[in-house]
Amino acid sequence: MKSNVLGYPRIGEKRELKKANEAFWAGNSTEEELLAVAEKIRVHNWQLQKDAGVDFIPSNDFSFYDQMLDFSFVVGAIPERFAPIKHLRNLDRYFALARGYQKDGIDITAMEMTKWFDTNYHYIVPEFTKNQTFSILVNKPLQEYNLAKQHGFDTKPVLIGLVTYLLLGKEKEEGFNRLDLAERLLPVYIQLVQSLVDAGAKTIQIDEPYLVLDLPAGAAEVYRKVYGELKKQFTNTEFILTTYFGALDNNTELALSLPFDVFHIDLVRATAQLDNVLKALPANKKLSLGVVNGRNIWKNNFEHSLALIEKAKEAIGADRLLIATSCSLLHSPCNLELENNEKVLTPEIKQWLAFAKQKVKEVTTLQALATGKVTPEVKAIFEENKKAAENRKTSTLIHDNKVKERVNNITAKDDVRHSPFSQRKVAQHKSLNLPLFPTTTIGSFPQTDEVRSWRARFKKGDLTQAEYDKLLEKEIEESIRFQEDTQIDVLVHGEFERNDMVEYFGELLKGYTFTKFGWVQSYGSRCVKPPIIFGDISRPEPMTVRWSQYAQSLTKLPVKGMLTGPVTILQWSFVRDDQPRSQTCLQIALAIRDEVVDLEKAGIKVIQIDEPAIREGLPLRQNEWKAYFDWAIKAFRISASGVQDETQIHTHMCYSEFNDMIEAIADMDADVITIECSRSQMELLDVFGDFKYPNEIGPGVYDIHSPRVPSQQEMTDLMKKAISVVPKEQLWVNPDCGLKTRHWPETKAALHAMVDTAKELRNLYK
Ligand code: GLN
Ligand code: ZN
Repeated sequence: MKSNVLGYPRIGEKRELKKANEAFWAGNSTEEELLAVAEKIRVHNWQLQKDAGVDFIPSNDFSFYDQMLDFSFVVGAIPERFAPIKHLRNLDRYFALARGYQKDGIDITAMEMTKWFDTNYHYIVPEFTKNQTFSILVNKPLQEYNLAKQHGFDTKPVLIGLVTYLLLGKEKEEGFNRLDLAERLLPVYIQLVQSLVDAGAKTIQIDEPYLVLDLPAGAAEVYRKVYGELKKQFTNTEFILTTYFGALDNNTELALSLPFDVFHIDLVRATAQLDNVLKALPANKKLSLGVVNGRNIWKNNFEHSLALIEKAKEAIGADRLLIATSCSLLHSPCNLELENNEKVLTPEIKQWLAFAKQKVKEVTTLQALATGKVTPEVKAIFEENKKAAENRKTSTLIHDNKVKERVNNITAKDDVRHSPFSQRKVAQHKSLNLPLFPTTTIGSFPQTDEVRSWRARFKKGDLTQAEYDKLLEKEIEESIRFQEDTQIDVLVHGEFERNDMVEYFGELLKGYTFTKFGWVQSYGSRCVKPPIIFGDISRPEPMTVRWSQYAQSLTKLPVKGMLTGPVTILQWSFVRDDQPRSQTCLQIALAIRDEVVDLEKAGIKVIQIDEPAIREGLPLRQNEWKAYFDWAIKAFRISASGVQDETQIHTHMCYSEFNDMIEAIADMDADVITIECSRSQMELLDVFGDFKYPNEIGPGVYDIHSPRVPSQQEMTDLMKKAISVVPKEQLWVNPDCGLKTRHWPETKAALHAMVDTAKELRNLYK
């Protein structure tokens, strides 16, 4: 029974890669310096896995930016628009693909980026054309394998599967299907594998996570053909087919019929598939059991994992099993040992956690336990593991019966407003007395260096609470005056007190904890440090009322209260695994509901509950969407339904795909929804029109992702388009998203023009 790690985080324990990349991009360091940092990280990772006793240590799991981009670069799938920079050195060219290129009169847009399955990692989308050709540009997998070898590590090269690679890409012109490119890519793929085999690789991991999705027509055939050909060429090499993030389900038969020697399945996300796979596994094949969660921070429950391993052992025998991480550890933070500040992370909670380094050890400990090689060290770890699991089950830190009871007592009337929208609308219009085409913003105003420095000084203890609060009040007052002067109709306080829209609430809710070094790569050099939900969530006291109330006290115009919604708070945190996500989400929903009610009591008439992450929580398989919507939409509705009819509830989302979820959006029953719209030129509004979406909508007319100031004409044209799709009485005028990342001068100019657009429209459509 071998141990198998699918991939290791590459950012470095202290984000060394981020820092080295950014220094290189800024021209503050040389290529040699960057390469040296990158090499050090890899060697460190390999050594740590070797020390832990891992049998299959991955190589080529490292990347300077993204592993999908790497593969495009390796096989020469470089979009034509990058031709003008052909002469650049490889590394510069590579980064240009990811980040775009703007220099010496050349202006090339970056390749598109999108989310990696249902994780918070983003990959660079391969771009294909009809006449796409492939050839090896740089043999990175071989370089990485050789680097490991040179340092004395015998590794298992990791390659993205050919079919997943193609399927995750995009056709940039019409008239072909990217799956048709398999034929052209295969010889290059074989060449890559050949080079690895020649260099001494005995086992190669091929990642085909697409096999846990609904496959498009024709894909099964391509799978069979491609891997049939590959295996024919390399009869002596051991190939591992890895799938993760879900169950093979209806693709089980297909996957297991492919000529691989080992099949890896994710038993964390899809425990139930084990029985099926054991039954269907061909007699001479091995199975890699992904039992250590690569996507969360909880210590493995050894007793649970051993039960699964035992079951597999009984069915097919220990010799045919591998013990593995569920997926690459890319999605976990690096090393729990660094968390030595007991004020940030208490020892009681820390004993429940495992980061990547600890997870590697869990894999080999499980291997030892399952094979009876129980040394005193292994025994001690097992005992500690059981103790931690027991402690976590019963800890008073986690369990709050009052919260559990409240969730249990949720009734059908808790997720509906008192009256239907048609009635609420009348009450709200009477109370708010807004003009046609009311204007508002999405919440945040520029977080200037100054504002950030106050927070840093306050956290360091250089500013007292009172001093810090005063500075924020001054900033809020300025923003209110600016909005009044600009004649915006519904104002915001500006969110200056928030570092991040989830972390801010996490810090004020009970049941949350934080780390100092729990960084996870989000894309390129960008890392996030998700807060950790470890226990039942409750709200000890109001979280935002003070700021909203203060802002409202400065003006007669309505100030909008600003909250992050339960699904987004859930989605952008590490979530406890000892109860269903739906349960945790309902707990958060109740906490937000209390905040909404308190805001109303404090005289706030408009309250926005942001849910930008609702879409990314969608399950990978379409047949699971309904179950997700059932609890996610319910959670939102619970958070929004504690108020009177007169109180206007807004929500906000920033992405541009509503077509397949418009019913769920309508079901949220927010009085007003503001959405990102300007980049799609209002196209995404069509679905609201077709659906006859009944509530009010603010389609964003100002793209806040760029410093560019849109003209009044442009915004008026966009609104005219909107008016042709949605009745004018339902429309608001607002930017695409919050203005936190913008600077004041462009913000002011753009919002002035935006208000002028609303005025122009009021005249035109009186
Ligand atoms: N209210 C938040 C802001 O304005 C919304 C951010 C978001 O949608 N991501 O910053
Ligand atoms: Zn947004």
